[in-house]
Amino acid sequence: MLMQKEREQVVEYGKMMSAARLSTGTSGNISVYNKELGLMAISPSGLDYFSTTPEDVVVTDLNGHIVDGTRKPSSEWGLHTIFYQNKPDAGAVVHTHSMYCTIFACLGQSVKPIHYAIADAGVAEVPCAPYYPFGTPELAKAAIETCGEGKAVILGNHGLVTCGKDLKAAYGLACNMEFVAELQYRAMSIGQPNYLTTEQMDDVMERFKTYGQPNGNKSGY
Ligand SMILES: [Zn+2]
Repeated sequence: MLMQKEREQVVEYGKMMSAARLSTGTSGNISVYNKELGLMAISPSGLDYFSTTPEDVVVTDLNGHIVDGTRKPSSEWGLHTIFYQNKPDAGAVVHTHSMYCTIFACLGQSVKPIHYAIADAGVAEVPCAPYYPFGTPELAKAAIETCGEGKAVILGNHGLVTCGKDLKAAYGLACNMEFVAELQYRAMSIGQPNYLTTEQMDDVMERFKTYGQPNGNKSGY
């Protein structure tokens, strides 16, 4: 099976994403990019993650043409390919409708540096893109433009997109984003959040560069 490892990863992380309630039902989607082949393995459209098999995962090129698989790719395939086309370091993309990130999406607000864990996104504040209908090229374009230099973006009235060097990183960032968004929501509900300053976040960003084991496998801060 073409890109078997990547397809198995999409299935494994899809189940994790559902179990962690980062997405519900058939919402949310995951892809892994194979740079050598120039192809991505992406979750199929409208299938529950717990009944998805590696064979159901679709392999497409960056124009959305199916190279292997019998299913229809996720309707958000264009949202995934635009990250691989514009971010050379991206090896995986995760899209969720996780509750707290989506609350800020519905307010049209960014997720702010209320906790240093947001530095995992490579920026101090994760911006919110304007609303466009799901599955449209306009949504993909707005997402990548609003994302800028970071690795995460909130999609107006929709959800969250993250990318990373591999699926572990992109998924971990989606978890961190939900953690920070929940903190921001809860803090805003009882008071005025004490956001970290630009200097404090620059310092965190610097520390993140050398954080973790020498082989680069960081887990938790
Ligand atoms: Zn979506």
